[in-house]
Amino acid sequence: NTVYNFCAGPAMLPQPVMRKAQEEFINWQGLGCSVMEISHRSKPFIALADAAERNLRELLSIPQHYSVLFMHGGGRGQFSAVPLNLAEATEHADYLVTGAWSKSAVQEAERFVTPNIVAESCVINGETTLPDQASWQCSDNAAYFHFCTNETVDGVELNVLPDVGDVPLVADMSSTILSRPLDIEKYGVIYAGAQKNIGPSGLSVVIIRNDLLDRARHNTPSVLNYGLAAQNGSMYNTPPTYAWYLAGLVFEWLKEEGGVSAIYSRNKAKAAMLYEGIDATDFYINSIASPYRSIMNVPFQLADPTLDDAFLTQAEENGLMALKGHRSVGGMRASIYNAMPIEGVKALVDFMKEFERKNG
Ligand code: PLP
Repeated sequence: NTVYNFCAGPAMLPQPVMRKAQEEFINWQGLGCSVMEISHRSKPFIALADAAERNLRELLSIPQHYSVLFMHGGGRGQFSAVPLNLAEATEHADYLVTGAWSKSAVQEAERFVTPNIVAESCVINGETTLPDQASWQCSDNAAYFHFCTNETVDGVELNVLPDVGDVPLVADMSSTILSRPLDIEKYGVIYAGAQKNIGPSGLSVVIIRNDLLDRARHNTPSVLNYGLAAQNGSMYNTPPTYAWYLAGLVFEWLKEEGGVSAIYSRNKAKAAMLYEGIDATDFYINSIASPYRSIMNVPFQLADPTLDDAFLTQAEENGLMALKGHRSVGGMRASIYNAMPIEGVKALVDFMKEFERKNG
């Protein structure tokens, strides 16, 4: 009766984390109440917050000259925070558009800055790909370069960093953070909505090089101001305390699993198994060019879309939940974040083979 949840977000959390949270729900650390019922300024909460940051720093090897911020507003909150904190209204900012989320980031940025789209993903010979970097139209004096390392909707992932000289790289890592090792020092700002590999929605984690902390415009809303967040230990206003607690449990779990390198090996194996299943037949289609195939979000179509409803219904009957693709793309999407065990992917591939045998 095992259920595997392939939702793109909010996504499944590791089972040991959920069990621990349940055990501690009404009596955290023997206090006789839940962690969500205590002050964020209390000693036990400060200790929790410090441990969460310490563990995240260890997991991602975050150097001391970077700050870690736990903020409100999810991924989209950062679509506004980035231009407000890093650029003046008169400045240009470069944006690489690889799918739905980077497009949304541009739309939000238009309120605050002049975004310049350097390049957009395109379809060549039926495959989604990116134009060669040599053809990108970068600005001469961009305040920053924004891109999305993994497009959750489209299943497009970038493994090679844009080469943009001294311009600070700003990466939306909402659906890929902690899934693979990173060289933090290549980035100015990394941000992520929490609801895939970190914890509950609403929380966003920001990793920022310290020299970028004090550039916010005077009219930046205080809750979006990186400098204020850093000066106040991410407690300028009441932080999302329960989400922070769960994020801390996820970081502990990830350390116990062997850290980011170990989870990366597992993630690659899961993705390879699923893409092999898709590529083995014409019954299923994934049309992302192989260098850009996401190891976190795997969209696929049935060659005969009239079978979509039957596929989804029977998948659910087999405990395979939330496989419906994003409404803008259609078809299916399997999100296989860190918490998805390899058994879940195997169950999905077995089901896909069986469905094809019956309907192919
Ligand atoms: N960026 C990416 C890559 C996402 O996948 C999402 C949401 O799924 C967002 C941004 C927006 O996050 P939120 O809904 O937390 O604002």
